[in-house]
Amino acid sequence: MTRKLRVRFAPSPTGALHIGGVRTALYNYLLAKQQGGDFILRIEDTDQGRYVEGAEQYIIEALLWCGIVPDESPQHGGAFGPYRQSDRKEIYKQYAEQLVASGNAYYAFDTTEALQAKRDAMEAEGKTFKYDDSIRLEMDNSLVISKKELQKRLKSGEPYTIRLKVPSNETVTIQDRIRGKVALSSNELDDRVLMKADGMPTYHLANIVDDHLMEITHVIRGEEWLSSTAHHVLLYRFLGWEATMPEFAHLPLILKPVGQGKLSKRDGAKFGFPVFPLSWKGETEEDSFVGFREAGFLPEALINFLAFLGWNPGTEQEIFSMEELIAAFDIAKIGKSGSRFNIEKATWYNQQYMAVADNDYLAYLIQPLAKEKGYTTDLAFLSAFCGLMKGRVAKTTELLEKGIYFFEPVQSYDEKTIQKKWKADARPQFDALVAVIAKTDPFDAATLESQVKGLIHEQNLKMGDILQVFRISIAGTLKGPDLFQMAALLGKTEVLARFKTAYAHFDTL
Ligand code: GLU
Repeated sequence: MTRKLRVRFAPSPTGALHIGGVRTALYNYLLAKQQGGDFILRIEDTDQGRYVEGAEQYIIEALLWCGIVPDESPQHGGAFGPYRQSDRKEIYKQYAEQLVASGNAYYAFDTTEALQAKRDAMEAEGKTFKYDDSIRLEMDNSLVISKKELQKRLKSGEPYTIRLKVPSNETVTIQDRIRGKVALSSNELDDRVLMKADGMPTYHLANIVDDHLMEITHVIRGEEWLSSTAHHVLLYRFLGWEATMPEFAHLPLILKPVGQGKLSKRDGAKFGFPVFPLSWKGETEEDSFVGFREAGFLPEALINFLAFLGWNPGTEQEIFSMEELIAAFDIAKIGKSGSRFNIEKATWYNQQYMAVADNDYLAYLIQPLAKEKGYTTDLAFLSAFCGLMKGRVAKTTELLEKGIYFFEPVQSYDEKTIQKKWKADARPQFDALVAVIAKTDPFDAATLESQVKGLIHEQNLKMGDILQVFRISIAGTLKGPDLFQMAALLGKTEVLARFKTAYAHFDTL
């Protein structure tokens, strides 16, 4: 029987979710939706030392903003819950003990100090410390003490960890959907801790137990986990779960825009672009970041950009909606090498999505910014404004900046152009322009255009002179959207008031 495809995104709540994590979630989601499978969000919070308040909430909000909606999660529930590892604490111990009973794991009593002393001693001899088959019999664990002593020490409440007993001289093979066959010698692997002294499982044990119990069929995650996968393969084998072990696909890294290595949160600050989906307020200024959302990106554009950071459909098409990505996604087309993060490309995507975005949607997005600035929050006005401006900007945050004259009196005029046009003998034609505008009724773009152009033709005026003075009078600049639509949106009263102020100023030049 073929199993239902089930994938999971399993972040640790250690801070804001890096966009690399969003890409991992996205690829999992795309595969699940394409195959009629389930996409699960599992919170891996067993490392209490790294737990950060608010991070889980952030992760969920970020996924929802991106349109990556889990089928099962701590918030949505589901038949395989709980979905937060700290709520599953009781589940893991029995599996660690099962591994001890089958001879594949052991209790280790080494204290931090003892481990450090051994490390120092080995390093002094020029060796590297690795808790493995070469030294495990020199350490303080259940392999070297009697059963009786073991019982005594366990009973006395002495702290212990449980370590995986990695077999010697074996080749562990990982079949990776992206990397192909990866073979590792077990001699390179350490006896990884499975249960910590605080009673919590480590990532390795909890991850394998949960992937098994949650019937995960595919593990798609960052390349940084590839080196742990050999341990995971051993765990599947020792727990007797090899037959249903998930398929692995390790995603290549997202690289810095320039130079070597993985894109880090510091790169965002350094180059002045976001690397997190939403803003994050950390404890310090240094640990606080502006998100793509707050920087004026649309989630649809970010998703399209991220989808292409490591994958491409092998065609010329670059714009893909979520539905199109779901249809086209293919693990086989994920590249092996890392992809460079390119903010210009992200901005280009955003511009493409902005230009065709629904006006009401954009109005809703900029409404809080308009409120903050003390501008009108009238959605009908903002919607018409967005319609005029959306093709002229790359980010939502630029709408109000570039279209400031829709909301505020003109701050400065293009005086150079005015000086060329504002001649004494031309004054009657500019007054005639105002008179025609004052008479225009209804004050809509089409009527206004035919009235103003009518005047130009009747009096044989120069189109450039009239229209440029018109535009500069109401907006200050020659740049901007369609003049008549802009004037119509501002309304007759406002337009006439602006002419009055502008002409008074032009007279002083
Ligand atoms: N908790 C791990 C992380 O934070 C999950 C890795 C995995 O998907 O197995 O990335």
